[in-house]
Amino acid sequence: MSKALLVVDVQNDFYPGGALEVPNGDKINSKINSLMEKNEYKKIVGSQDWHPKNHKSFASTHEKEPFSEYESEGIGPILWPDHCVQKSKGAKFHKDINTENFDLIIRKGYNPEIDSYSAFQENDGTNLGLASYLKGLNVVEVDIVGLALDVCVKYTAEDAVKNGFKSNIILEGSKGIEQDPDKFKEILNEMKEKGINIKE
Ligand SMILES: [Zn+2]
Repeated sequence: MSKALLVVDVQNDFYPGGALEVPNGDKINSKINSLMEKNEYKKIVGSQDWHPKNHKSFASTHEKEPFSEYESEGIGPILWPDHCVQKSKGAKFHKDINTENFDLIIRKGYNPEIDSYSAFQENDGTNLGLASYLKGLNVVEVDIVGLALDVCVKYTAEDAVKNGFKSNIILEGSKGIEQDPDKFKEILNEMKEKGINIKE
């Protein structure tokens, strides 16, 4: 058994009604829970977006509107509404995800100056330790689920490839922000070109 499951950012703020909601985000819960019940994974890792107040990725920090364009080292290309503020309700895992199955929780985005879309590293390249944790356990392949497919799941999957893991996104366990079907297909194709397997 040399496979791990990465459950990305299944936190209230990314669910319908949350500060940075992903449409139909709640539709992934039963798939994720059933994957976690499978005896297929050596380890199950959850990531948790965990921002201090006034994080530089928040539009409010710059007195701008959410989703305005903004680019600086480790931030951007757009600014987000305030979300997943440390210890807030929005930062908590969704109540319907059986998080007692997580063997490890990687918190990310806690540096006020730098965002962290990937569970492997911050946006400036600072290592979060996940790759060496998995390699130490002889994991060679990762299945990835969670929110949002076109942001944190995507960056996590790309970094999994860069770190030498076979990288699979399980579509039934992930939803994206992008709702235009053609643009969504394009995003999936870009990921495939980068060596990520998209599994139905
Ligand atoms: Zn964030």
